[in-house]
Amino acid sequence: MTTATTPPTDQAATGRAFTKRLRWAGEVQFLALFAAIVGYCGTGLHQRVSVFAQAITRSFSLQVALCWFALWAVCTATVFPVASYSFFLQRRFGLFTGGPRVWLRDYLKTNGLALIFGGALVEIAFCSGVLLPSYGWLSAALLYTILFLWITRSLPWILSLFYPVIPLGDTTLREAITRLAAKAGVRTGTIYEWRISERTRQANALVTGVGAARRILLTDTLISRLTPEEVEAIVAHELGHCALHHIAKKILLQGVIFCVILGGINFAVHRGLVWSADENLGWADLKLVPGFFLYWTCGRLYGNFILAALSRRHEREADLYSWKLTGRAEFFITGLRKLTDANLIVFDKGSEWKFAHPATAERLAAAEQFARANGELAAATQTPAAVGSENN
Ligand SMILES: [Zn+2]
Repeated sequence: MTTATTPPTDQAATGRAFTKRLRWAGEVQFLALFAAIVGYCGTGLHQRVSVFAQAITRSFSLQVALCWFALWAVCTATVFPVASYSFFLQRRFGLFTGGPRVWLRDYLKTNGLALIFGGALVEIAFCSGVLLPSYGWLSAALLYTILFLWITRSLPWILSLFYPVIPLGDTTLREAITRLAAKAGVRTGTIYEWRISERTRQANALVTGVGAARRILLTDTLISRLTPEEVEAIVAHELGHCALHHIAKKILLQGVIFCVILGGINFAVHRGLVWSADENLGWADLKLVPGFFLYWTCGRLYGNFILAALSRRHEREADLYSWKLTGRAEFFITGLRKLTDANLIVFDKGSEWKFAHPATAERLAAAEQFARANGELAAATQTPAAVGSENN
């Protein structure tokens, strides 16, 4: 393979420039969040909010909710300028095709969901900590895992708050996918068309849920850009995730990571090591809310690197599964190239550890090796671009 010496194509160079700026915006956004929490506590606002919450209600869970709401409002307002930059970036590179009003509506919806789900996480941690002083962190980790399982299961519904998500109407494609799923021995549930083309040119396919709650989603951009054979190859990759129980394995690892993070925070709470609280009152101290959220956010960041390593292994396994199920790698190769062009997400092998997918050049090289061994060489001779994708 010639991936290391291939000069970047225009598309790859543009993608690399976009990815670099997007990553920079992500890092600045994290720093802005960090600064917002530190500033919120440094000015003593968190103390005033906790006194206010105790003055207006005797319910501990409502007091926690009020403290979380104030923190969420400060974080959302501080992060807004960086989030706006991400919007302009996507517009400039032609990825986001909707207007500022559409983006703002999506931004508010996303932050509304962050308010609800973040609130649930904070409530679970604090109420479990108060009700079960010894094992509250363990029950909180279990409840977090159940909540994440529910989110995975409910993803089609969550996405439908932003985009039309409807059962796949193309009967020929639906029948082809159903045949493929039957061949894989996988129960797919409803196959959905996720209509994102009015907002973005990006394309993606994903599988959500486990068991009977499993769903496959294909973006309308994927269906229109790829040939039916290429769509089938990408769907076969998703079926690989199902057949090899990747979602269940990921949720299991997620549960272990939750135990480690919450066990660590619980240790810090009981030893008075959470900097936002000046007294050692345990989980009953409302001033812990911003400190808890900061430690949780940092713990999740590191936990995601571990999850990404598992995910990259799963991606390689699902790729191989796709080639074996369809009996060829040719359409996978051309389909993956089209997805990379559409999504503009590019990264080098050296930064792979941050991503949930292996570098696309590596995936294409493995696919071409399979194609050669399978006698499909003629269709797979084009040199792969040295790029990678965060999709499919
Ligand atoms: Zn995948």
